[in-house]
Amino acid sequence: MKSKRSMKKVFIRTFGCQMNEYDSERMLALLKGEYIPCREPKEADLILVNTCSVRKKAEEKVYGLVGRLKHLKRTRPEVIIGVCGCVAQQEGEQLLKRLPHVDLVLGPQAVYRLPEALEKIARGKGPVVDTRFHKDFRQPLILPELNGDRPVKAFVTIMQGCDNFCTYCVVPYTRGREISRPPEDILAEVECLVRQGVREITLLGQNVNSYGRKEKGFPSFAELLREVASVPGLWRLRFTTSHPKDLDEDLMRCFAEVPELCEHLHLPVQAGSNRVLKRMHRRYTREEYLSRVKKLREISPEIALTTDIIVGFPGETEEDFEQTLTLLEEVRFDEIFSFKYSNRPLARSTAFEDKVPEEEKARRLARVHALQDRITREINESYLGKVVEVLVEGKSPGNPALWTGRTRTNHVVNFSGPHGLKGKLVRVLIEDCGQHSLRGRVENSQ
Ligand code: SF4
Repeated sequence: MKSKRSMKKVFIRTFGCQMNEYDSERMLALLKGEYIPCREPKEADLILVNTCSVRKKAEEKVYGLVGRLKHLKRTRPEVIIGVCGCVAQQEGEQLLKRLPHVDLVLGPQAVYRLPEALEKIARGKGPVVDTRFHKDFRQPLILPELNGDRPVKAFVTIMQGCDNFCTYCVVPYTRGREISRPPEDILAEVECLVRQGVREITLLGQNVNSYGRKEKGFPSFAELLREVASVPGLWRLRFTTSHPKDLDEDLMRCFAEVPELCEHLHLPVQAGSNRVLKRMHRRYTREEYLSRVKKLREISPEIALTTDIIVGFPGETEEDFEQTLTLLEEVRFDEIFSFKYSNRPLARSTAFEDKVPEEEKARRLARVHALQDRITREINESYLGKVVEVLVEGKSPGNPALWTGRTRTNHVVNFSGPHGLKGKLVRVLIEDCGQHSLRGRVENSQ
């Protein structure tokens, strides 16, 4: 390995979801020994922008950032500029026309071929555009090596892509069709992380519930959860994201039967009206969603639920929208992630003609926020006076005098306590709460 002084520098900026965060970490791991990370693009020999195209806003930010790098490239032409992830996949060669100072365009499944692409550029064979999808998930296994301030929790990807083709979504086009990662690779990565002190793992995928269904001999997702949970030294297990149509009873039972599995489920509903759900091609009805929530709460009464909501989907009437509000009242999610509908290139709904005006979408979003803020506040207040188990992640970013961590139900807790709590499970008495977090003091630690 080269000495640190002789190594080149890489700057990575990541937009979008946890899958992108995970891919960025993998790219850094692939560059290890040749590059060290740096904090500013101006210090870098290689600049990678890992992009998201799920929402228009995120895509615009990418174009803004990469566009500004043109000046840097003019003064230092040897700098390699790469655009990776979903925008790269969506635009392919076209991206070079719009941003000719870019040297490298890598789709989400091609990020594992980064060293190969850099080698081509070094041989003068750039720019490189690689948006090939692979047929299985048997890439070289890159085991993570944690350095410095080691994290207490980590993500592990278990599958890529999606077969669902919801009409508003670009994922099946940018991340490809669903492929599951071999269970032995997942277990090897989890074991490696736990050996290095990680105590909480979140299994990641676009639709984890359908893990293994297409591959011969793979376990079901519920079986995989049970296997991962049995890794010695792992205290907590989570997963995201789940499609409601694939949430079966076997998986629900894991919340009651697997002690490591935390009582929190992100279950995107998107809308409360059957007419809108049908046009979104979600393949479940409001009634089916609600009956799954009911069953889940019978099996695991403490479970916290979160969801995603889109307001102003094409053709959404006031009456349809009201049904989203009544669904929010009925389920009482702990938290929601809500967005105004936006057209995305490749998504089928972009061609739907009955678009909802921008100001109406904004009005609906404000109503959703006001309702959910009240529900979240009421749920947070129900924690007052209770003692909860918290896995301590470190010092609170907003107040270094306090510790921060999460309950099993995924609520953020900031609290006072003695030194040296990072990585421990503590019991915290909740004394106060805000809109987005709980506050308290530690009772004891283990
Ligand atoms: S389930 Fe639907 S919204 Fe989720 S990634 Fe697949 S196509 Fe997109």
